[in-house]
Formats: sequence, structure tokens, C-alpha cells
Amino acid sequence: MKTRWGSCNPKAGRILINLEMIKKPERCIDYIVLHEMAHLIEKRHNDRFRDILTQVMPLWQTYRNELNEAPLGHDEWQE
Ligand SMILES: [Zn+2]
Repeated sequence: MKTRWGSCNPKAGRILINLEMIKKPERCIDYIVLHEMAHLIEKRHNDRFRDILTQVMPLWQTYRNELNEAPLGHDEWQE
């Protein structure tokens, strides 16, 4: 968990959140949790995944950008 904000293992139903997130604004933490939870439904970053996120958090792209400006990133987000 040194290079990513969070990860998800859909088979095990397990979500890991990087402890560094504790230093981030609450809205960003919410975004990471929802992002990883959305992976329980949809594994890939496709349209379905984005639709799920948009339903629960319409401004998710704003928070993602905010996090991507930080040194730690989630590899797959560089789309
Ligand atoms: Zn992801």
C-alpha cells in the first residue's frame, strides 16, 4: 500500500484504504471508499463503473483530480 490510495479484491470482498488518506479532506476519503466499493460491482474503469460512481457521488471527478495532484496516486486512474 505504498503507491496507491486504495485497492479492492472483489473475490474476497475486501477493500484496503491507504492510511495516508487520513491526511486528506473527508470528501476525498469518501471518494476512495466509494471508488473501491464500485469495484465490488464493476472491476474495470469502464462506462458502467463511471455510471455507478456518478449515481452515488456526482462530483467524483473533482475529487479524483484533487487526489491525482497529490504525490500518491492510484495507477489505474491515469486514463
Ligand atoms: Zn480503481
